[in-house]
Amino acid sequence: MISEDQARTKILEAVQRLPPRKLPILEALDYFAAKDYLAHVPLPGFDNSAMDGYAVIASEASSGKRLRVVGEQRAGLNRRLQVSKGEAVRIFTGGPIPVGADAVVMQEDVTRDGEEIVLNVDVDPGEFVRRGGCDLSQGQKILGVGDRIGAATVGLLASQGFTEVSVGGEVRAAIISSGDELAEAGEQLQSGQIYDSNLVMLQSLTKLCGATVAFSRHCRDDNAALCSAFEAAAQNHILIVAGGVSVGEHDLVQSTLRSLGAKIDIWRVAIKPGKPFLFGRLGDCFVFGLPGNPVSAFVTFLQFVRPAILKMMGATGLDLPKVPAKLSRDVRNDGDRVHYLRGRITDGTFAPVGRQESHALFGLSQSDALLRVDVGESLRAGEMVVVQIWDSVSARGN
Ligand code: AMP
Ligand code: MG
Repeated sequence: MISEDQARTKILEAVQRLPPRKLPILEALDYFAAKDYLAHVPLPGFDNSAMDGYAVIASEASSGKRLRVVGEQRAGLNRRLQVSKGEAVRIFTGGPIPVGADAVVMQEDVTRDGEEIVLNVDVDPGEFVRRGGCDLSQGQKILGVGDRIGAATVGLLASQGFTEVSVGGEVRAAIISSGDELAEAGEQLQSGQIYDSNLVMLQSLTKLCGATVAFSRHCRDDNAALCSAFEAAAQNHILIVAGGVSVGEHDLVQSTLRSLGAKIDIWRVAIKPGKPFLFGRLGDCFVFGLPGNPVSAFVTFLQFVRPAILKMMGATGLDLPKVPAKLSRDVRNDGDRVHYLRGRITDGTFAPVGRQESHALFGLSQSDALLRVDVGESLRAGEMVVVQIWDSVSARGN
């Protein structure tokens, strides 16, 4: 049995970034940039008006002053108007500031009188002028290798005229659930049977990470069935197999993988839930063997499979998002494995929920965060702790 940190390090050393690809910016949401991007154009692109009003010369524009309106500039093509002493230009939000003007007075602060305006306020230089480049300079870095492309980033790329963006490679995943006791949704349950929940749960987690589920299948605890499924699944970048990974007579995953020539690098990790965890390689395919118990499968996916997928996709931040929270009750770990407690954050307080057992899927479904409690660690009610959140829009991470 190895430690959680050793397992994670080994896995992340083994998996490598996939070759990048180009995507239209609209399809790049939640993927990771494969190269640095620099600003083509500054933001704002030029000095423009922040208000509907009148462009003026501030030093000539004090309360009570009368100015002649000599033209109109809307957002759009620059009419290259000019403001001289005693003059103003009617201007609208986004309109380029005319030559000579250095401020905009809001239309609410003037009284219009035919072709003239009378100012009702004093005007400072720069007022309501959005300076070109004040938000972003040309050549400034707007996106770095490994950064996640969020909705605002898509907007920023569009503001620079980009139509496509280079992102990390597509991770194709195969998912297999194994167990004779498993029935598919829609089938009539026989006595002793249970519905297969891991297959769809792991598909969902995989998709949340941004990988493509290219293969999914349930297999019986049968050597030949597992063999053919593994061979087909190994055409993908990763294979996630849940159940049958332990050492019981009906746990055939490991022996089948070995019979196919797989190299097993990790077997058993000091983590609760999730001890019977396996990591290895079948041909070019990385294999993650997860425990069949749903909570164990879920937790080991988040701790080991998720960072591996993200690394392959070219992400730099591989950890789950973390937030501080107040602990609702005393917690201690007297065991010999790191414990991941499932809980819920409400108004900044983390409270463990449901039965903290590896089969307790309902309890898991009520939770949205994990508290990692180290071996021998003892935490007190009211203490501030840092918890990992996984049930969030940013499930793909930082
Ligand atoms: P195993 O890892 O195969 O020994 O299974 C451990 C426990 O998880 C057993 O109680 C199984 O019935 C259960 N289990 C295994 N696979 C699944 C699955 N796909 N969906 C729900 N429960 C499962
Ligand atoms: Mg089984």
